[in-house]
Amino acid sequence: MRFNVANLLQEDVGETSTVSFEVAPDAFDEALGLIDPVVGQARLLRTNRGLLADMRLTTRARLPCSRCLADVIIPISGRTIDEFFPVVDLRTGARVAVEEEAEGFPLTESHELDFAEPARQVIYLEIPMQPLCAPECAGLCPRCGHNLNTSRCACSFEPADARLSPLAQWLRADADS
Ligand SMILES: [Zn+2]
Ligand SMILES: [Zn+2]
Repeated sequence: MRFNVANLLQEDVGETSTVSFEVAPDAFDEALGLIDPVVGQARLLRTNRGLLADMRLTTRARLPCSRCLADVIIPISGRTIDEFFPVVDLRTGARVAVEEEAEGFPLTESHELDFAEPARQVIYLEIPMQPLCAPECAGLCPRCGHNLNTSRCACSFEPADARLSPLAQWLRADADS
């Protein structure tokens, strides 16, 4: 996901270039659950400070459903626009002072633009906080762990609401006596 942008940095402000990449899923944090290569394209625009990159990517993740733990395949498609700025002057080789509050990403010392971090961030944002196998997923029984999508369990005949459980105990005690 690294591109040498020395040529574009020598162009006038407003010049553009396009790049594309395909990266194996294991290049990313395992916790993201990626199963497909991350395929992306970016349009690079020379700015007065550096480069503006408009990057789009697609991939897929496999994560457990937040209710029933079944595998969920999640198509991911994201876009991010970031500024990249040089840390070394192309002609003199001198270090470029980077503004403290500069938003964006530094280019490498060898004038490479690396999409690894912006790609990680955009994938992270596109992954749902609580993946669901289906919007109506019934989840697991909080008492016995049975998957309620397949069938009901014996517990479901008792009130699930904790405020009602004294009543359930009283009814059960009454039935036992
Ligand atoms: Zn589920
Ligand atoms: Zn149950």
